[in-house]
Amino acid sequence: MSLLEGLQADLDQRRGAALYRTRRVVEGPQGVTLKVDGRELLSFCSNDYLGLAADPRLAEALREATRVYGVGSGAAHLISGHSAAHHALEEELADFLGVERALLFSTGYMANLGVLGALTGRGDTVLQDRLNHASLLDGAQLSGARLRRYQHVDMGSLERMLPDAEGNRLLASDGVFSMDGDVAPLHQLADLSARHGAALLVDDAHGFGVLGENGRGSIAAAGLAPRDVPVHMATLGKALGTAGAFVAGSAALIETLIQKARSYIYTTAMPAALAEATRVSLRIMAQEQWRRDRLHMLVARFRTGARQIGLSLMDSPTPIQPILLGDAQTALAWSEALLAQDILVTPIRPPTVPEGSARLRVTLSAAHQEAQVDRLLEVLHGLHARGAA
Ligand code: PMP
Repeated sequence: MSLLEGLQADLDQRRGAALYRTRRVVEGPQGVTLKVDGRELLSFCSNDYLGLAADPRLAEALREATRVYGVGSGAAHLISGHSAAHHALEEELADFLGVERALLFSTGYMANLGVLGALTGRGDTVLQDRLNHASLLDGAQLSGARLRRYQHVDMGSLERMLPDAEGNRLLASDGVFSMDGDVAPLHQLADLSARHGAALLVDDAHGFGVLGENGRGSIAAAGLAPRDVPVHMATLGKALGTAGAFVAGSAALIETLIQKARSYIYTTAMPAALAEATRVSLRIMAQEQWRRDRLHMLVARFRTGARQIGLSLMDSPTPIQPILLGDAQTALAWSEALLAQDILVTPIRPPTVPEGSARLRVTLSAAHQEAQVDRLLEVLHGLHARGAA
């Protein structure tokens, strides 16, 4: 069978194994309620943690900036696409985090590919937590460096790998793990990286805006200084409610990325207006502490309720609150049962998570009402009591 003839058989096999993924068409803005197929669904699966994705102030900033900059950025940053808006956002991000410089990327996925490729290559070693985001793993593979994956948050497993890691060493970890919601042992990672001469990269996609003073993220929340984590990456499409990503660090790091990161060099710059909207979002995110306070209150409310029901939660202090269900069929069945009650929580199945650890990844937002969290708990209670779906 040729490559293309085999596609349908492969798709059928995925469907049979409850691993088939489908998209839902959302009409209207992001929010805790979503309009899908004419139905209004209560959503617990976006990364819009602070409820800023559809904030009118961001929308107005975007509209206004299109009057100044137009829509497209026209070219890559190194050609003619680097606008005053991009530049100002980079400077504001660097100031906010207390580092020399920051560099924008069009997406977080591209930031990770770019950083790993620019900093490591054949003969080097990249050490990564087993549960790191796919973009970190893919970036290491693409770089040509040797990829070694230690057991999740297991510092003993990492320490055993460090002494004989060849070449330059880069140690990379999610700050908050995207599918489990737990926080990396950042102190120990900083300590091990310093002792073994490894550069430390933390991907704080899910911590930035959510954790730490003024939302500076998991590194600040751990009480670490920027110099303890010299390569700091975070995304803008989650708590900040826009799109894109940045890497923050020393001037030498950022200049190296500008010279060498292929996913920075060979792609069109994000629209300038989006950078302007993100500047507004950064200010709102830092100033409106009530959003983080509310979010953490809702996380506590959900965990207390879920524990009372007897659900299997993970050790997560963040708005990512997975309910571990085991096999893909069960996760799919729970998700469908919730949907029948107008609640949207997508099932997360292998290969996104390890075999046998399929789950419902519940995420909370500052925009949720207490009554909406209670409604989710009530329906989950019903499912649990029925031995679930
Ligand atoms: N890193 C982590 C930890 C993520 O969860 C994500 C997004 N799911 C990314 C990187 C990629 O970011 P983006 O969506 O901006 O490509």
